[in-house]
Amino acid sequence: MDTLTCLLPGGYADGTGTLHREAELAPLSGREEELLAGRSNMSNAALVTRILSRCVKRIGTCSAISEAIVRDLLVADRQYLMLKLRELTFSSRVQATVVCPWPDCSRRVDIDFLLGDVPLILPVDPGPTYRFQLSAEAALYDEQGVAHRDVVFRLPTGGDQEFAAALALQDGEQALMQLMSRCIRSIGDLHQPDAALLGGLSPLARTELDQAMEAVTPRVDLNIAGLCPECGREFVQPFDMQEFFFSELRISREQLYREVHYLAYHYHWSEHELTGLPRSKRRMYIAILADEIERLNDAVV
Ligand SMILES: [Zn+2]
Repeated sequence: MDTLTCLLPGGYADGTGTLHREAELAPLSGREEELLAGRSNMSNAALVTRILSRCVKRIGTCSAISEAIVRDLLVADRQYLMLKLRELTFSSRVQATVVCPWPDCSRRVDIDFLLGDVPLILPVDPGPTYRFQLSAEAALYDEQGVAHRDVVFRLPTGGDQEFAAALALQDGEQALMQLMSRCIRSIGDLHQPDAALLGGLSPLARTELDQAMEAVTPRVDLNIAGLCPECGREFVQPFDMQEFFFSELRISREQLYREVHYLAYHYHWSEHELTGLPRSKRRMYIAILADEIERLNDAVV
């Protein structure tokens, strides 16, 4: 099977603290398409975990990639792996439509770009934990009136994304504090601060914390620049690659089973073998068969 090897923007730190960055991917097959067709109630974060645990074959020297490992990957690493998976499953070229963001225009504009050209923003410090100091004005005071300023934090992972998706219906502020309490290891002597304690951070402290996290976060920059042919103005628009890829992959179960049935009927391959094919190969065999059947029909006439 064709696989693709890439270098993760962040990397996976295993239990011993060793950082693994080289990942090997296999393309999506009919089995993942079947999974996507039947899991409309799963959050996108949970779907990404499920799909990557099936398609990532290796990260560094770890070759048994469980859902737990995929949950531990940084948000940017998961985004990057999905981007590479799309490249491997279909192609590097993305042709899509976005809405022109100028408020008096809002018309649909075609965009066309290569995934290989999407810039990666890589941090200097690979983590997995980071330290910084809140300014004196932003210090967090405990019940005894002691100021705490030294923050140790980690970056959000897939597990945090799944957690956030499950909290999406709750109060936004409360959910944000719970997410922060997962990522902040300590503030001064306050270890594993909970959501209630973090609620005591001032707006200035929150801003400083956001900036400190942003400065070390690896990113896949999917801000796509375009020129609107309708209003003639340039724009930069964030592009939701994950949603786009999922919509490309969505196929009804009926259609998938019809395709598998068609090939099984003519080739007598097992269902297991046929659902293991990537879509491109499945469709290629269908096209070959259709040509062959047409040729035979022409010969009979
Ligand atoms: Zn426009």
